[in-house]
Amino acid sequence: MFDKILIANRGEIALRVVRACREMGIASVAVHSTADSDAMHVRMADEAICIGPASATQSYLSIPSIIAACEISGAQAIHPGYGFLSENASFVQIVEDHEITFIGPSAEHIRLMGDKITAKDTMKNLGVPCVPGSDGGVPDLASAKKIGAEFGYPVIVKATAGGGGRGMKLARSEAEMDHAFPTARAEAKAAFGNDEVYIEKYLGNPRHIEVQVFGDGKGNAVHLGERDCSLQRRHQKVFEEAPGPAIDPETRARIGKTCAEAVAEIGYSGAGTIEFLYEDGEFYFIEMNTRLQVEHPVTEAVFGVDLVREQIQVAAGMPLSFRQEDLQVNGHAIEVRINAEKLPNFAPSPGRITQYHAPGGLGVRMDSALYDGYRIPPYYDSLIGKLIVHAQDRPAALARLHRALGELIVDGIETTVPLFHALLEEPALQTGDYTIHWLEKWLAENLDA
Ligand code: ADP
Repeated sequence: MFDKILIANRGEIALRVVRACREMGIASVAVHSTADSDAMHVRMADEAICIGPASATQSYLSIPSIIAACEISGAQAIHPGYGFLSENASFVQIVEDHEITFIGPSAEHIRLMGDKITAKDTMKNLGVPCVPGSDGGVPDLASAKKIGAEFGYPVIVKATAGGGGRGMKLARSEAEMDHAFPTARAEAKAAFGNDEVYIEKYLGNPRHIEVQVFGDGKGNAVHLGERDCSLQRRHQKVFEEAPGPAIDPETRARIGKTCAEAVAEIGYSGAGTIEFLYEDGEFYFIEMNTRLQVEHPVTEAVFGVDLVREQIQVAAGMPLSFRQEDLQVNGHAIEVRINAEKLPNFAPSPGRITQYHAPGGLGVRMDSALYDGYRIPPYYDSLIGKLIVHAQDRPAALARLHRALGELIVDGIETTVPLFHALLEEPALQTGDYTIHWLEKWLAENLDA
């Protein structure tokens, strides 16, 4: 086992990894920008190293600085968290070239899944159902229109290098394709430096269902059920739950088995998430994330596992600590993402926290790096906390969420907490009857943004 792990991240996820390390008797090294000198992950880790100025490109994304911090501290492994360098195959290659262990899959698997066209191809060949669409990249507008006519509108143009909902454009008709195709390309070029796009049939009423998988890198893999992340704004998740309200045990076992077998087949190592759209009882693969997800705590709650500990153990060459038959769903868990944003426009709201009180009690977990007096810097993602509740069933989890949100105090800045108070009043939330388009519609009708 490692003696020391460097965490190449910030915020709540850096803290999450520090906590796992401490429980495992492993020393943790935080890295931080000058803007984060007072951050909680810096205070809680055993050591901290400043790796650059506020701009993420010069600090959290600076590969030479992170490798240097490893050399200086003597850390034997790097945990990347999510975002930043977590899915950067060249980073992983460089880490490995320096004989440091990357806590995650191999550079080869990250590369394979990082390109969505290759990922879809690979999954299709492994027997995973995919959204119907173009066979690979679409080179020009004329080909795009041909594919639109072939599959029937609406279709969605997507960046092969896509992420975070960028480089994705809907075309409802051939006329709309004139705009959608070049716009998606331009957005993809600007965001990812790669303008290759592909086309998929646009699904009108799907849920977003994702399957958590774990591989040991030696051909063994398990699944840890699904999460339903259908409540989204701008293709970004805001409310996640496990198990999915629309998934029964047989369906879970079936799609889970398909996913576990696929990752076992490619010799995948570590945590991964296979994302699907789910409509009329059918699953359609959209992408695989080769890292820990923001919403991993709901899976931890219902399966009673520690996914970060498992990641560290597998990276150290140990076998998986659970077999498929050990993994049983227990109760229901919900996570809400709390952002420093002002409603109704979701404008960033950084600033000083004058008072912070985290909710507690039975079945409540607050993953946050906030504290009284902390100043949220304006340079990074606006996620400031994740409130996770776990109870015996969905109605009890919703009641617990309502109770816990009522206890939470974040003063000094604006947050998205009022959104969740309002959503909990909605019958669709109570019944779990919504698709990926529900929240956008609700926001348009209820918040005059
Ligand atoms: P990203 O990597 O940018 O997050 P994804 O491929 O994971 O992109 O898609 C993100 C979200 O966009 C999905 O959860 C869904 O809401 C929407 N989406 C993607 N593909 C389709 C599709 N074929 N039909 C309808 N919605 C889609």
